[in-house]
Amino acid sequence: MNRPPRWPAWPPPPTDEQRRALLAVLDSGRWGATSGTATEEFAAAFARRTGAAHGVCTANGTVALFLALRALGVGPGDEVIVPAYTFVASATAVVLAGAVPVAADVTEDTLHLDPAAVRPLVGPRTKAVMAVHLAGAPADVEALRGAGLPVVEDAAQAHGAARHGRPAGSLGDVACFSFQSSKAMTAGEGGIVVMGDHALYERVWSLHNVGRRPGGGWYDHPELGWNLRMTEFQAALLRPQLALLDGWIDRRARAAAALAEALGAVPGLDLLPAPSGTTRHTWHLAMLRYDSGAFGGRPVSAFLAAMAAEGVPLDAGYRSLSQLPYVRAPVPCPVAQAARESVVWVRQPLLMAGEAAMAYIGRAALAVRRAVTPR
Ligand SMILES: *Cc1c(COP(=O)(O)O)cnc(C)c1O
Repeated sequence: MNRPPRWPAWPPPPTDEQRRALLAVLDSGRWGATSGTATEEFAAAFARRTGAAHGVCTANGTVALFLALRALGVGPGDEVIVPAYTFVASATAVVLAGAVPVAADVTEDTLHLDPAAVRPLVGPRTKAVMAVHLAGAPADVEALRGAGLPVVEDAAQAHGAARHGRPAGSLGDVACFSFQSSKAMTAGEGGIVVMGDHALYERVWSLHNVGRRPGGGWYDHPELGWNLRMTEFQAALLRPQLALLDGWIDRRARAAAALAEALGAVPGLDLLPAPSGTTRHTWHLAMLRYDSGAFGGRPVSAFLAAMAAEGVPLDAGYRSLSQLPYVRAPVPCPVAQAARESVVWVRQPLLMAGEAAMAYIGRAALAVRRAVTPR
């Protein structure tokens, strides 16, 4: 084995344009979105990129989901169906809205919410379905619409993704993105809600701006609302990233292809391909299926430790949300539960390292396997 690659940091080094935009906000003295224009301009530009008519920037992705749910009328006594295999915020945003997250299992091949698992969980209290575009591939929103309920896209991992040519952000009734440090576009923290419907836009805008109405008075609060606004600094950092996003996605897509090829030589370790219908996978993560039987019965934790020793920091990924005390799981979620032992992640910063680095991951996995299997 040669030396391991140097894994790039995320976010990438700031560009001159970002420095200029950040300083322009600093010098303007208009640091908040209620006095400056950078946040509104970014919201409009990002919404356009996702094929949505409107956007409202928020403090983070979790409250973006909260706002989307509240704007759809979700509240106490209601239920929202969420996939069992996702980041915890997909569920805690539902709790924040006063409702109960109900976990449904995911499909074996995509780890996305399984439409067949959703249907039996729909009852009189169910108010929405949360379609999580896990890893950067859009969920099958058309099939999830079969439940006859509003679909909220949790697109926190899917900036720039598309399904059947339509961008993530315009597949469901309303969509939410995150700009937290690990995400494909980031300002350290931040989020956005995008939607096509104008009335829904005005509700989200009001809810995130202490119940004000667009064009209304500063101390007029006809609606119940909160301060969940983004700052102008965040918008200044984010705007230039819109022009960089596609290049970053292309780089990861080439890495994912190289990784699939490299793993072709490693029995028991396979890249989960893009779900059918995906026309743009953003490869926020590359998820690998780990078959412990092909690795001498070693549990995934041992595999991860051995890969780390080869200089490849992979991740174990999520535990099923169905185990959490604040999530309702009327039926078991065996696929999501098994994923903890059979799925490993190659995260975005590793994929940014490029194709030669993916070949290294393949060689490292092969070396790890040789050490634990009889010749
Ligand atoms: C990151 C993430 C969120 C939450 O976003 P924050 O900005 O961290 O609040 C929600 N859902 C998914 C799937 C995520 O990956």
